[in-house]
Amino acid sequence: MSVLDYSAYPFTREQLVQNVKQRMSEKRFKHVLGVEKACIELAQRYGVNPTKASIAGLTHDYAKECSDKVFEQTIRNYNLDPQLLKWGNNILHGVVGQYIVKEELHLVDEAILHAIEVHTTGDKQMTTLEKVLYVADYIEENRVFPGVTKARELAKQDLDETVCFETKQTLSFLVEKKSPIYPKTLVTYNYYVALKQ
Ligand code: GDP
Ligand code: FE
Ligand code: FE
Repeated sequence: MSVLDYSAYPFTREQLVQNVKQRMSEKRFKHVLGVEKACIELAQRYGVNPTKASIAGLTHDYAKECSDKVFEQTIRNYNLDPQLLKWGNNILHGVVGQYIVKEELHLVDEAILHAIEVHTTGDKQMTTLEKVLYVADYIEENRVFPGVTKARELAKQDLDETVCFETKQTLSFLVEKKSPIYPKTLVTYNYYVALKQ
């Protein structure tokens, strides 16, 4: 992948890939490689640094298989809100996972760490890198669900429109399951739905 330049980071792409691979199931690792690929494609389309997009893709689910104990300890170490624990892994692996990535991979790039933080819920006024990761996670080539083809098409045309569509779909899916909605997911929905009216 000749567009990538890892020289400013404390690891090569190969080292990062190996490190990430050790932390997760084969299936999740395949997803991660798919997200990296989609991240690089979207980065090139929307003018984002492709190396940052590659690292964001490779690290975004780094903490997905961490135990509750690890999340509890990280919340204590960084004085984060203990109430976060009630949201479970789906929310914790990004919101708290960014600190685990920082510690274990020595990644200090705040733009990438923040993209990891919001990759599940989105946020209002995301940077293009954050939108790229949020959308890449949804449309990567291994994903199969209703609406994924539409999301892939939209992603070639309008990134904000895709963020809006993805958030609406996720919210509907969660409401249908009677899952609790993390407040930031609603913030994302309200922001992007107003932007695209
Ligand atoms: P993954 O890590 O690649 O599986 O994808 P994500 O990090 O985007 O999402 C992880 C899970 O969190 C998915 O099952 C989402 O549906 C779910 N999720 C996203 N937003 C919310 C929310 O506001 N509340 C809850 N309870 N789950 C959410
Ligand atoms: Fe995730
Ligand atoms: Fe993911």
